[in-house]
Amino acid sequence: MLHLIRTGVAQTRADLAKHTGLAPSTVGLRVDALQRLGLVTEGGDASSTGGRRARVLRLEASAGHVGAVALGAHHVQLALTDLTGRRIASVEEPRTDLTQAPEAFAAEAWTHLQRMAAEAGVDPAGLLGLAVSVPAPIEHPGGRVVQPSFMPAWHGVSVPELFAAHTSAPVFIENDANLLAYAELHGSGWAAGASPGTDGPEHLMAVKLGTRIGCGIVSAGRLHRGASGSAGEISHTGVTGPGVIPCTCGVPACLESVASGGALVADLRQRGYDVADATAVVRLGDAGDPVVVAQLRAAGRAIGSVLAAAANFFNPSDVVLGGVMSSSAPLVAALRAEVFERALPLTSGALDVRTAVDGADAGLRGACYLALDEVLAPARVQARVAAAGQVA
Ligand SMILES: [Zn+2]
Repeated sequence: MLHLIRTGVAQTRADLAKHTGLAPSTVGLRVDALQRLGLVTEGGDASSTGGRRARVLRLEASAGHVGAVALGAHHVQLALTDLTGRRIASVEEPRTDLTQAPEAFAAEAWTHLQRMAAEAGVDPAGLLGLAVSVPAPIEHPGGRVVQPSFMPAWHGVSVPELFAAHTSAPVFIENDANLLAYAELHGSGWAAGASPGTDGPEHLMAVKLGTRIGCGIVSAGRLHRGASGSAGEISHTGVTGPGVIPCTCGVPACLESVASGGALVADLRQRGYDVADATAVVRLGDAGDPVVVAQLRAAGRAIGSVLAAAANFFNPSDVVLGGVMSSSAPLVAALRAEVFERALPLTSGALDVRTAVDGADAGLRGACYLALDEVLAPARVQARVAAAGQVA
C-alpha cells in the first residue's frame, strides 16, 4: 500500500481498495497503522468527479531519511535525502589516498554523513538506510566486492559489515554503473527539484566511462543483476589494441585496459604527457591536442564496437553514458558512430545513445533511490508495523 501511495498510483483509501482488491475496512486498518508509524499523512481534498470528496494520502517526507556514499577513483560523493527522494544535503570530497583501508574509508564517510545531518538539522537517529556505490563488480546476493580492477584491498570486502560498526540501519551496496542505470530508471534529477519518478526507459544500458568502464542494465523496468551480480560487465571483453594498464581479468587487451580513462592516462604518460587523471585527458581533447583527440576517438570506437554487440543482444531503447569520459565530445562522437554502424537496423532504429540526466551526480542519486526503495519495501515496512505491535 505504501508503494501505491509513494508512486502516486493511489491517492485515497478508495483508490487503495480498488487497486488491491481489499475490503475498505482492511485498507482502513493498514492505513491507520502506516499513519501511526508516521509514514503516511492524510489531508486536503482529492480532485473529485462528484459525490463526497476524499482525503489525500501522502508519504510523509520527514518521517526519516536515507544516506548515500559513492566511491570513485578520485573522489567520494555523499548525500542525504528525505523519504520522497528530495535532496537534503550533498557534498563531493577529493579522494587523495587510494590505498586507504576500507575500514578507514567507512569511518571517514560515516563522520561526513553525521556532520551533514547535523548541519542540515536532521536527527541522525532518523537514518533508515544507507546505500554505498563502489566502482567494482559486486556479488549478488551477498554484497561482497569481487576483484576490483583497481583498489585491490577491497577484494572480498563486505561493505554492509564495514558500516555495521557505525550504524544499525541497513546498508546496501551496489555497483556504480548499476546505480547510473537505477537513476535513469527514475527519471529527472535533483536540479529540477523533483522526486524520483517511475517514467524512465524500461530497457536501457547505462555505461559508466570513468577511470574504469562499467555497464548497468535495466530490463522490463527492473535493474538486472544476473545470476551472481556480474550482468553488464562488458569491460573485460577482448578488443583490438594493446592493453596499456594491467587488469585482473586475465584477458589480453580487454576493453578496460585499452579504452578506459585509466588506460588513456597511462598511455599519455608513456608518451611523455603530464596528466593527473581522466579529467585532464578530457580537457586536452577539448583543447584540440591532436594526439589526445586521436586517442579519444580510438577509445570511443573500441567502446562503441563492444556496445554495438551488447545492444544487438539486449535491444535497449537507450544507451546512457555517464562518468567523466562521457563529457569528451571526440570520444562520444566516435562511440555513437561505431554503435550505429555496427548495430542491426532493428536494434539501431529504436536506439537513443545519449548522456545521462544530470550525469555528475547520477550515481549518487541512484544510490539514494535504491536506499529508499529498499527501506520502504513492503517486507521492511511490514516488519516495522509488526514490531510496533500494530495491525499487520
Ligand atoms: Zn580486464
